Amino acid sequence: MKVALVSEHANPLAALGGVDAGGQNVHVAELAKALAALGHDVTVYTRRDSATAPETVTTDAGFTVVHVPAGPPCSIPKDDMLPHMVQFGDFLADRWSVSRPDVAHAHFWMSGIATRRAAERLDIPHAITFHALGEVKRRYQGAADTSPRDRIPIERELACGAGRVIATCSDEAFELTRMGTDRARIAVVPCGVDLDMFGPTGPTLRRPTEQQYRVVTVGRMVRRKGFATAIGALAHIPDAELVVVGGPEAGQFEKDPEVVRLTRTAVRLGVRDRVRFVGQVSRENMPSLLRSADTVVCAPWYEPFGIVPLEAMACGVPVVASAVGGLLDTVVDGRTGTLVPPRDALSVANAVNRLLADHSLRQSCSAEAQQRAHRYSWSRIADDTVRVYSRILRTVSETTAVGESR
Ligand code: UDP
Repeated sequence: MKVALVSEHANPLAALGGVDAGGQNVHVAELAKALAALGHDVTVYTRRDSATAPETVTTDAGFTVVHVPAGPPCSIPKDDMLPHMVQFGDFLADRWSVSRPDVAHAHFWMSGIATRRAAERLDIPHAITFHALGEVKRRYQGAADTSPRDRIPIERELACGAGRVIATCSDEAFELTRMGTDRARIAVVPCGVDLDMFGPTGPTLRRPTEQQYRVVTVGRMVRRKGFATAIGALAHIPDAELVVVGGPEAGQFEKDPEVVRLTRTAVRLGVRDRVRFVGQVSRENMPSLLRSADTVVCAPWYEPFGIVPLEAMACGVPVVASAVGGLLDTVVDGRTGTLVPPRDALSVANAVNRLLADHSLRQSCSAEAQQRAHRYSWSRIADDTVRVYSRILRTVSETTAVGESR
């Protein structure tokens, strides 16, 4: 099958951990790789955000990345990309009229706009994975939500226009249904984890501190990831250090407003000496860092999916996670870790303390976490995704056949 993945802001080749580079970049890169490994011809279309980026890159993983000229060739916040989606869509239409994909798959709502513009013009079946929904973001972020004004109604329309909407967890399927999407057109296919990279054995980062225990938290440096909750919890967890992973590249790190805010919180709570901000960590170094943790805390306010808990679980590390979004599907309370209410530092602390105090509980959670993570291999996710594409193509050919027999 010839597959076009459209991911306007999340480039599969980008460094991770900044404000706009995280799970979606990983998802698109790994899905593209796994689809290519199944023998499909995969091209990822992403916005060109550097004047020196070549138009086309052929990756070692067997897929191609096309940097689409839409807007200035420099980095811009994802929420400012909307005006460039017409140009993006026209580029796709030009390309696809010469080299037509069998199916197009948009990632994030703005990619949905560009994809639909091109796909409808050329009658190409398409799917969409939202990765995050404007409705949910508005609910939790309120006035701090910087999304363009019309995001919510546009998402509703995109969900109706796509051949299938691929939700990454049960909670998202529920949200989509609430938005008015026909349940029969929603497929749930989760994100995955690279099980060759993330596993219980392999190098483990040495602990340079005096503390007995290590708690790790990982994510893009944005408020809703709940790093403040993890720092608040540390005040009730004796004899542990908290390693905070993510944020801008070295050099800009100390100036980052979120890092400054979190540092102040740590000082105010008297735990500054036990919180280590390590900034962006590369993909290659992430497994050894996760393996060095006694537990990984994922304390977001809300979470469309959350790949980090799966990565920790694959490494055999129990996870203490907010009971929200995709974490409700991946983390099994009491078996692979603990689910706690969001924005509740004391509940996080209690759950972490219980794990740290009970070695056999940590061991049983570790074993179950590894087992559970194995359900989420990218090859399985790619298989499920292809099944969704095939269903869309079948529906199109059945509709065409009915039309012709009339
Ligand atoms: N990540 C990374 N280095 C960092 C911070 C994050 O490699 O410094 C990776 C992390 O391991 C995970 C992804 O970025 O694979 C974050 O995905 P998740 O779904 O947890 O969060 P999102 O970014 O989608 O909100």
